[in-house]
Amino acid sequence: MENATDYIAKVYKKVEQRDPNQVEFLQAVKEFFDTIEPVIARHPKLIEENILERIVEPERIFQFRVPWTDDQGNVQVNRAFRVQFSSAIGPYKGGLRFHPSVNQSIVKFLGFEQIFKNSLTGLPIGGGKGGSDFNPKGKSDFEVMRFCQSFMTELQKYIGPDVDVPAGDIGVGGREIGYLFGQYKKLNGFGAGVLTGKPIPMGGSLARTEATGYGLVYFTDEMLKDAGKSFAGEKVVVSGSGNVAIYAIEKVHQLGGTVIACSDSNGYILDLDGIKVDTVKRLKEVERKRISEYVTEHPTATYVEGSVWELEEEFQIALPSATQNEISGATAEKLVKQGVYAVAEGANMPSDLDAIKVYQTNKVLYGPAKAANAGGVAVSALEMSQNSIRLSWTFEEVDSRLKDIMTDIYVQCRDVAKEYGAEGDFVTGANIAGFLKVSEAMLSQGVL
Ligand code: GLU
Repeated sequence: MENATDYIAKVYKKVEQRDPNQVEFLQAVKEFFDTIEPVIARHPKLIEENILERIVEPERIFQFRVPWTDDQGNVQVNRAFRVQFSSAIGPYKGGLRFHPSVNQSIVKFLGFEQIFKNSLTGLPIGGGKGGSDFNPKGKSDFEVMRFCQSFMTELQKYIGPDVDVPAGDIGVGGREIGYLFGQYKKLNGFGAGVLTGKPIPMGGSLARTEATGYGLVYFTDEMLKDAGKSFAGEKVVVSGSGNVAIYAIEKVHQLGGTVIACSDSNGYILDLDGIKVDTVKRLKEVERKRISEYVTEHPTATYVEGSVWELEEEFQIALPSATQNEISGATAEKLVKQGVYAVAEGANMPSDLDAIKVYQTNKVLYGPAKAANAGGVAVSALEMSQNSIRLSWTFEEVDSRLKDIMTDIYVQCRDVAKEYGAEGDFVTGANIAGFLKVSEAMLSQGVL
């Protein structure tokens, strides 16, 4: 039988040949493959049963047309996807992204990462992802509603509480989930467990809104503690100003750190006294305005066009929570020079492969996305549990379970990395810990 290194290289080559243009998907697979040699070497059955080639191929992908009518009466057409990647350990679970950049490569990279992230939560959820190239920016509520209704008219054929349970991601929050749920209900009757991230009156979970951001900070806090550090007194930069960023900022401030900057896709605000999170919440969640508006209310803050990672101030902790590939190798070098010793990812794949290398060479504490941002999907799974037992837990109960889950994920990453000879490398720890459970399930289920 071939050795682990050759096997991994052979499968990667095949993935590349099959989808040479899916750059984001290839990047996610490469990051994963670069770390799993020790586990493949230790378990020859994984080669014998060709687990890698099976795990990189989605069980199925749906692509569909979403026609809708805008406020001027024009018929618009968007393209949408649902990738049902892996059901080895539970029903497909993962968010929906509405953003003009969405294509098959993006949903596949997200769906692939979701498999291992969901496994790390310790909860019984498989991996999936979906979305559309619809741009919600500047659309009226009624336009968003008509789009969501058309989208769900098709998607409802493929999902269900024990089959596939979508949720939010970029561009999909409570408003969108509400409209999607309404249309699902109209066609199939009330089934609370078919979507998560629902508004509270229709079976949503308390603390789901906060979960990804809070979870990111709980994970980071554990990572810092182990290194003899903490958020107290540290300067932090959080990119983005969406659902993940907002609640990350809130939690960092509760733990005594100061978030000096956050951003949107046009620019960033710098507020050395600490970002006023209530202003960001109102601007982004209620008024749906640009982050530049912040400075009209807080004149001592400044607004700068461009990427937040271009800022010159010294700071210690970076929490990229905007989107994929926002940090390149060169940016990572610059961050290290500015004093950054810890990076934890609220967004999915915000650091490219070069950036990860820079963190590793410089011994930056690095919490990769699939571990650090798993709090969102973890609380989604808790929402599914509450829907199944027809009860709802208090905010404190959900938040305390979230904290325990994030601590457990950190411990898994740390201990598995050590066990497989990569102490301190939480990318390896996260990938192997997530993979072990999924691959064991796949082996016991036979060749499917
Ligand atoms: N989109 C989120 C993620 O990247 C949450 C998914 C979910 O709650 O199902 O994990």
